[in-house]
Amino acid sequence: MSNLYGCLVCSRPSEWSKTCEWCQSRIRGALAQLPEQYVYLTMSRQRVRGGGGDGRSPKALHSPVPGRDDVLNLLGPASRQAVIDAEDQVGDTPFLEVLGSWSEAVTDERRLTPVSRNVTALTTRLTGNLTWIYEQPWVADFFGEIEELLRAAQRITMTRPRKELLRGITCPSCEGLTLVRYVPGAWAAECVMCWVKLNDEEYGRLVKTQARALQDSPKS
Ligand SMILES: [Zn+2]
Ligand SMILES: [Zn+2]
Repeated sequence: MSNLYGCLVCSRPSEWSKTCEWCQSRIRGALAQLPEQYVYLTMSRQRVRGGGGDGRSPKALHSPVPGRDDVLNLLGPASRQAVIDAEDQVGDTPFLEVLGSWSEAVTDERRLTPVSRNVTALTTRLTGNLTWIYEQPWVADFFGEIEELLRAAQRITMTRPRKELLRGITCPSCEGLTLVRYVPGAWAAECVMCWVKLNDEEYGRLVKTQARALQDSPKS
């Protein structure tokens, strides 16, 4: 199953770890966005229940706006039964169930003290053990579920990153005009061909170098 020389998530070569650096940063990035998404979702639910009200009036509770079951499912109670129900309805597993079961696996296997079952505590537990998680045979399943949860939340909160093509700047690695930026995203630029990633500083330097090269080239 596991390939010593390939990343368990994307299968690209990875010399010293079971996951490549790119996937490690994708996993860390996806996890980091979850607490914020949970807050956005909670706000969507309050809007669903009638905004101005305290959300506790019998009318608000008994007449949910149709089509917002997706929000309630993601925020929903984390019992096994609730998950089965939620999957029957829309296929999205609640936040606490996904984070809770992975966090439990980490806690059990590493013999740690259990943490409270809330999104912040569970995310912190997972983030704090990422170096270990990156080396586990189930890391791809883990990332798959975290990413799915993030996408489901982003669809509802309409915060899915936008892809911008960075016109006129050549990829320093494959030399294609294939650099893009995801907004919001972790990188200033990334290449959709060779997957190179550039941080703000690296991208700034690249733009300067290429601008200078343009100036210096003989005018026709
Ligand atoms: Zn990878
Ligand atoms: Zn490239």
